[in-house]
Amino acid sequence: MWLICTRRCGGELFRPLFAEIEVDAGGEYQGHSVVQPGYLCLNCGAPAVDLGAVPEAMQEDKEEEVAAVTSMDVLCPMCETMVAVLPGEECPNCGAALELV
Ligand SMILES: [Zn+2]
Ligand SMILES: [Zn+2]
Repeated sequence: MWLICTRRCGGELFRPLFAEIEVDAGGEYQGHSVVQPGYLCLNCGAPAVDLGAVPEAMQEDKEEEVAAVTSMDVLCPMCETMVAVLPGEECPNCGAALELV
């Protein structure tokens, strides 16, 4: 986990929004557990995000991009239909070999 302020104010202290705090009989802090993810920057009050969770999201974006690049819209010269095919595939409409550049 790596928390960072969404306003990038440089604050390095964060407060969990949903945490259960344990205290002893004298009210001294003993420990806590975060019930739900969600943090506030203590410096400026903006929400904080967990950068540790970002690489996963970026990877998903990348996979979508790759899928968008590999599928191409081409006009089939045989049946004159716009078809979306992957490089090396035949026209799904008439089966003609398509030459993708
Ligand atoms: Zn901040
Ligand atoms: Zn075709």
